[in-house]
Amino acid sequence: MKQLIMIKYGELTTKKENIQLFIKTLYLNVQKKLENYPVEIFYDKGRMFIRVLDQHFIEVVQELKEIFGIHEIIIGYELATLDLEEIKKSILTLVEEKEFTTFKIETKRSNKLVPKTSVEISREIGSYLLKNKSGLQVDVHTPELLIHVELRSKESYVYFDVEKGIGGYPVGTLGKGILMLSGGIDSPVAGYMAMKRGVKLEGIYFESPPHTSIEAKNKVKALSKVLCKYNLEFKLHVIPFTEIQEAIYKNIPHEYLITIMRRMMYRISAIIASRSNAKILVNGESIGQVASQTLTSMKAINEVVRIPVIRPVACFDKLEIISVAKQIGTYETSILPFEDCCTIFVPEHPVINPDSKLCSEYEALIPFEELIHEAVKNHEVIKINRQQKNDYEDLL
Ligand code: ATP
Ligand code: MG
Repeated sequence: MKQLIMIKYGELTTKKENIQLFIKTLYLNVQKKLENYPVEIFYDKGRMFIRVLDQHFIEVVQELKEIFGIHEIIIGYELATLDLEEIKKSILTLVEEKEFTTFKIETKRSNKLVPKTSVEISREIGSYLLKNKSGLQVDVHTPELLIHVELRSKESYVYFDVEKGIGGYPVGTLGKGILMLSGGIDSPVAGYMAMKRGVKLEGIYFESPPHTSIEAKNKVKALSKVLCKYNLEFKLHVIPFTEIQEAIYKNIPHEYLITIMRRMMYRISAIIASRSNAKILVNGESIGQVASQTLTSMKAINEVVRIPVIRPVACFDKLEIISVAKQIGTYETSILPFEDCCTIFVPEHPVINPDSKLCSEYEALIPFEELIHEAVKNHEVIKINRQQKNDYEDLL
């Protein structure tokens, strides 16, 4: 009797025209996620099956709980037989250790060659259990133990426990996005939510050494590593932003520092997106959170790019965002105290309702196109590795 994991796709099945792509992508994602475990993975239209060929069963189930597109994880047993006598005996062995009084058998028979109906099979197994394990009762409405039996073409499955997966769509099925990842609480949560909708992410981080420290960058790498669990791999574009920030700081009225700086970030992110074949930008902006996130500010900043900008946490309040951050494992890293490039150049009175025309006039005071060109040209790409222990993990 071998243990077997069955995966139910859930939400995928409602999107008929995409179902092949969804299942194939999910298959590849599961394969990638489990690349270090000896497993066999196979699937049909309704479900995916995983055999774990060593003792790492629990670890594999844990990994599967981080894969979008998985609705339910069913942990069962595979019996290499369709013989009812053998199935009965195996079920008795399986329930021997379990503590329960009432039970119900539910049989599914995908192999119609088996000469009995599902109801007859359930009844037969039921009476066998009643006869061979004392103190049991059948309860078809609210049983303590629901025993699922499934007869397939050559083998049968028995399972009891169904665990919830994280749902969503498989990462990659909706294409690629660039996540503006700042090291704060909001942007990793925004990234998680975009991935849940099937968007595969690459990250972009703007650094301004020496105004920002190596720890700040390491923090972003540590967050990337957490996101990697869901995204399966993670490419981080690190943009040297010092010259742009200093040019803005020296030449532009300080109340517009943040607005202009963010317009530069948007422009650069859009260039990276186009080069990486990404269709959207994703960021952690939340309406009303700070001066640069009033509606007027968002409009003045957004208008320098044509690529859609998705803001998954736009309408969440901070407590809601924090609660997701804790759930997905980014919170502890996000609250580490390293300065971000935005916090260093924060003016005392940032403009709350920036004027777009003024933004353009101020930008004309610096050679921003050249500066952007240089920053993009000199940017560093870091491939975040999910397996390897990295220097940035010592942060925690
Ligand atoms: P977070 O929003 O992630 O908690 P924050 O609140 O410090 O960090 P804001 O100043 O609110 O960041 O910026 C809003 C969004 O802009 C961030 O969520 C992030 O998507 C993006 N952003 C800000 N700073 C950077 C940066 N240095 N690199 C990349 N993206 C950034
Ligand atoms: Mg924020």
